Amino acid sequence: MKVSVLRESAPGERRVALVPEAIGKLRSADVEVLVESRAGDGAWHSDSSYADAGASIVSRADALTADVVLLVGKPDLAAVAALRPGQTVVGLLAPLTDPDLVAALAKAGVTALSMDMIPRTLPRAQPMDALSSQANIAGYKAALLGATAFGRFFPLLITAAGTARPAKVLVLGTGVAGLQAIGTARRLGAVVSAYDVRPETRTEAESVGATFIELTSVGPASGAGGYARELTEDERLAQQQELAGHIARHDVVITTAQVPGRRPPLLVTEDALKAMVAGSVIVDMGASELGGNVVGSVPGETVVTENGVTVIGASGLPSSMAPAASAMYARNISSLLLYLIKDGQLVLDPEDELQAGVTITRDGAIVHPALGGAAAPAPAPPTAAESEPDRADEASPDEASPDEAGPDQAEG
Ligand code: NAD
Repeated sequence: MKVSVLRESAPGERRVALVPEAIGKLRSADVEVLVESRAGDGAWHSDSSYADAGASIVSRADALTADVVLLVGKPDLAAVAALRPGQTVVGLLAPLTDPDLVAALAKAGVTALSMDMIPRTLPRAQPMDALSSQANIAGYKAALLGATAFGRFFPLLITAAGTARPAKVLVLGTGVAGLQAIGTARRLGAVVSAYDVRPETRTEAESVGATFIELTSVGPASGAGGYARELTEDERLAQQQELAGHIARHDVVITTAQVPGRRPPLLVTEDALKAMVAGSVIVDMGASELGGNVVGSVPGETVVTENGVTVIGASGLPSSMAPAASAMYARNISSLLLYLIKDGQLVLDPEDELQAGVTITRDGAIVHPALGGAAAPAPAPPTAAESEPDRADEASPDEASPDEAGPDQAEG
């Protein structure tokens, strides 16, 4: 069986799906590894380093003929057009927010495995959890960006020239990225507070050194699969208003809130921004073309408001640490492949919960239940709290159209 690594085509993407260190294990499983020439450039892995590890360096056209084609992100339209029935594509395909890609992959007759659809709560899926590995990197980098843009110290400093008080950092959203942002800001010496709409995250936030803020105006909003549900309009307004007071009391705010398949919730409004002190910094990890957690944030850009607040639209953070992000992603994707390879062939068992979760198209059909397909086994029945009509994890391609949906979760 031939597995190929495609060079990423998204603008600014520096990650690569396999690093040279990952080739050996695949070869031991009787897999021939092809790497598109210069696929590893952005992560500082040369063609020769892949060749030394046992891979063959090939053209893009040849890489696209492999039995299994590996990517970090999505294949571009030309790549999808080159694929043939029977091939398998694996990447962070963001199918909940890209129904056109899902339809194109089904039409091409390929089997598509989406790394962001792996059921993350299954213990055997932990080594394959690319959303977590990339979110960890993003959270770490977000804290560093906040510290760099802030014109004062993060730690308490007592010097002959005076004493600097520690920075007050607020992390909104305490999933994987938020927890890493808290830990990193703490290690730099900041005093950190945190908030999440899922109260069960309190213990985790406290365990990495944050003081957890509870809002009185919004109740718990835990959804299915360990994720948050989308808030109602009333809840959203109440949350924004109450958060504004907390935001104004902090020097650096890092926002990480996401709802799968939906536009990121707006947490920092115009009024909240205006109430912040000049010199404050916001790092918006939810920043996307459709808007982020912070009003007016622009993905990939830093803007300074009239009252002197620096708003960093922090998109593409994992890619900004491409060597680390690629190494972790390579372990995730290799773990999935090795789980699926039997006797040198990729064998899919639709009865297996992990495999059913990750498979979005198979042999020309859309099969994932969250995309309107009918893959087995059926998902567990939702609890009453999870049966909200706006549950993101049940979003069909129509419900989660690109117009209303959030960014690729790979951005963390
Ligand atoms: P995410 O990126 O989808 O969201 C980030 C955070 O934003 C979440 O904690 C969410 O509750 C929060 N959020 C959403 N809307 C919000 C709002 N309006 N206000 C404030 N916060 C809001 O989440 P993630 O980090 O990818 O994962 C979420 C959770 O999934 C994890 O914390 C964990 O509980 C679970 N998980 C479990 C495993 C496992 O069991 N092995 C692995 C990974 C993740």
